[in-house]
Amino acid sequence: FNNELQRSEKMEIISELAASVAHEVRNPLQVTRGFLQLLTGKAQTAERQYLELALVELDRASGIITDFLTFAKPEVGKDTVLSVSEEFKHIEGILGPLAHLQGGKITVDIPENIMIRGNSSKFKQAFINIVKNSIEALGEEGKVHIRCYRQQNQVFIHVVDNGEGMGPEVLARLGEPYFSNKTKGTGLGLMVTFRIIEAMDGDIYFTSKQGVGTDAVITLPAAGE
Ligand code: ADP
Ligand code: MG
Repeated sequence: FNNELQRSEKMEIISELAASVAHEVRNPLQVTRGFLQLLTGKAQTAERQYLELALVELDRASGIITDFLTFAKPEVGKDTVLSVSEEFKHIEGILGPLAHLQGGKITVDIPENIMIRGNSSKFKQAFINIVKNSIEALGEEGKVHIRCYRQQNQVFIHVVDNGEGMGPEVLARLGEPYFSNKTKGTGLGLMVTFRIIEAMDGDIYFTSKQGVGTDAVITLPAAGE
């Protein structure tokens, strides 16, 4: 019991540290990005190439912070009862504009009374990584639809997109650290998501078809009667 307690205290300290590092590092990265971009506009071809490389690497650093650290901070009341619909209101608020930027749309269909147990920040981080992947996979007339229902003591959450989809060789590697098919990808998003869902005693699986889209299904134990 003592060991367990020490471990969870340590984890809490690490999480808190990670969140503050993420927060502190993000600002100087953004400032640096701004200046590099300014220079890129004025540079000759040779220098411009280096500057563009520097921008790509800087974006990679930001990507790692987003996928890995942004929501790491634990909130008071570690195992709180969360309303799935409330959590997704926040997620939609963060990612709706990103979908819009791609010419896509997010729709959410979640009954108000579905509850689960967990940490709000971690939950959001897990689902932001999933929904962000859906958005990034979208082509024209892109749609991401999120729906949720309860069956007995299980809560089912579906994140469905009509994006590029995945073949079996990609599906088999999801969650593997640094596995990414994107030029600016970190390959850390789903690894983090899988860990969080597992820690919440949940399950996650993907069905997907190339050129058709993807359905990510997450099951979590329901809270409440
Ligand atoms: P990253 O997004 O940085 O590449 P992830 O771990 O989030 O890393 O995702 C790994 C890979 O899984 C992506 O590069 C992509 O090829 C694939 N992937 C994940 N979700 C989807 C999706 N909804 N549609 C198509 N491909 C996806
Ligand atoms: Mg991702």
